[in-house]
Amino acid sequence: MAERISGKTKLIGLLGTPISHSLSPKMHNEAFAKLGLDYVYLAFDVDNEQLPGVIQGFRSLNVRGCNVTMPNKTVVLQYLDKLSPAAELAGAVNTVVNDNGVLTGHITDGVGYMRALKEDGIDIIGKKMTITGAGGAATAICIQAALDGVKEISIFNRKDAFYERAEQTVKNIMEKTDCNVKLFDLEDTNTLYKEIEDSAIFTNATGVGMKPLVGQSLITDPAVLRSDLIVSDVVYIPEKTRLLEMAEEQGCRTINGLGMMLWQGAEAFKIWTGEDMPVDYIKELLF
Ligand code: NAD
Repeated sequence: MAERISGKTKLIGLLGTPISHSLSPKMHNEAFAKLGLDYVYLAFDVDNEQLPGVIQGFRSLNVRGCNVTMPNKTVVLQYLDKLSPAAELAGAVNTVVNDNGVLTGHITDGVGYMRALKEDGIDIIGKKMTITGAGGAATAICIQAALDGVKEISIFNRKDAFYERAEQTVKNIMEKTDCNVKLFDLEDTNTLYKEIEDSAIFTNATGVGMKPLVGQSLITDPAVLRSDLIVSDVVYIPEKTRLLEMAEEQGCRTINGLGMMLWQGAEAFKIWTGEDMPVDYIKELLF
């Protein structure tokens, strides 16, 4: 590391709390080192209250950019100068780039999800998706899928605070894209199963299936998972959630959240450096 840091080294930050568990510093620093890029990525434990001062400090120091994570993904918007179309629709940002004092917010999770599908040879453009979840991950996925040309999306969420937010997301997507989006109550299992029937892909974008809900699945009847349905899960620890196990037993093609995680990072990396992250190399190192 010592020989990598010079008087010209550019800083990229990660702003969130808690933050020490994050894989992002290792992902980006290894990629900078592999490509010989003069950047360093550091995590900063920052909450909503500290955020305005930190962003101001980043402006003053001409920091190249940052990732933004919980609890700052929506709060950060008010301190930025511009938003990408997807970030504007989502009302959330996970990546900021500083171009000569102009701070632009992006959301790369949805791009990461769509790219992971593409890398696996899965094409859902012009087709229908059914998705469980309406939080940060689900919102980013739905928006990018709609922007990329997915024809129809049926979102199922329980009636919690995320449901109300999802009503606004549905409105935004319907206004700004050609995608037909509908929101349903997750308790309505019959409708969930019916919507999956004519979908090309079913996606779980909730934490059900990961700690502390390991072994659980929002789909309980395996027969719903017909063999030509693609089944994806944003969770990647465990590598195979109960949903993906069931789907595999039914002969479905499955994809977990690892690709989404890697490609959202790669998209941010490209925004800051203009270079392609060596994704296969990083995957080998991290997993
Ligand atoms: P969030 O807190 O913004 O949203 C949580 C969502 O899950 C909400 O829709 C909520 O209603 C739903 N939910 C929570 N518990 C539920 C339950 N018991 N039953 C039904 N629905 C439930 O979180 P998020 O950031 O959207 O993350 C959701 C999952 O996605 C997490 O497991 C997270 O680790 C994963 N994730 C993966 C990636 C990736 O790159 N692969 C990126 C972001 C998030």
